[in-house]
Amino acid sequence: MTDNPRRTVVVTGGSRGIGRALCLAFAGPDTSLWFNYASAEDAARETERLVQSKGGSARGLKVDVRSEDDVKRFMKTVLDETGRIDVLVNNAGITRDGLVVRMKESDWDDVMDTNLKGAFLFSKLAARPMMQQHGGRIINITSMVGVTGNAGQANYASSKAGLIGLTKSLARELAPRNITVNAVAPGYIETDMTASFTDSTREHVLSMIPLGRAGSEDDVAAAVAFLASDSASYITGQVIHVSGGMYI
Ligand code: NAP
Repeated sequence: MTDNPRRTVVVTGGSRGIGRALCLAFAGPDTSLWFNYASAEDAARETERLVQSKGGSARGLKVDVRSEDDVKRFMKTVLDETGRIDVLVNNAGITRDGLVVRMKESDWDDVMDTNLKGAFLFSKLAARPMMQQHGGRIINITSMVGVTGNAGQANYASSKAGLIGLTKSLARELAPRNITVNAVAPGYIETDMTASFTDSTREHVLSMIPLGRAGSEDDVAAAVAFLASDSASYITGQVIHVSGGMYI
């Protein structure tokens, strides 16, 4: 999408972790960058500052991806200010781990609403302007465990598997309008989300990674940047695994 004089990029969950790395990967003078976050005010301002230090501009708004009203308000602001949406990255996500037999209904609902319904709401509202533009890119951050499953993460794995179904269905719906929809499936990336791993869990996970190291936020951002680039214009409905070979 580099031939647009000024493109609009929306990243959900841009205050921390992979979302911040995504904002930095897209940052530049030709990009109007918008992101949202749940509550981490200081972290959101830091993302804005880091983007500015790369010569770009970013605005982070406190918007709950689970709320249709919030998402509508956010997208209206973006469209009022920039008139277009070129790239949407559905990145916001949470975990509420536990074995199914002990999992609370609220832990199931929170994870599904954030990880899957949030992506649905953002995609629905981004699709219309993209259809009018006859072009756009939607990239969903799923997870390796959405493909493999994981004991203790039935809610999370189900939400991420659902995201792959959403990706493939939306890719078919939007292809006639030159909009591609793909997913990136990270393996083990060192962020706040994985910071609570014990040393033994971390060692165990690392032992399952053929490339022998944890992934970085930048590893994920590079795959997303590729899918958003002109070079990926003939790729749609795909899942790119960024897991150091943990999933082959
Ligand atoms: P993270 O560091 O915990 O950051 C999560 C981001 O999502 C934050 O910006 C957070 O906002 C935002 N968020 C959470 N709930 C939200 C809500 N209801 N409304 C709006 N924003 C919300 O997570 P991460 O590790 O960067 O993960 C990013 C994505 O990659 C997630 O979808 C995750 O499932 C996926 N992923 C991560 C890994 C990994 O190993 N880390 C592996 C596979 C997939 P606040 O800062 O305000 O809380």
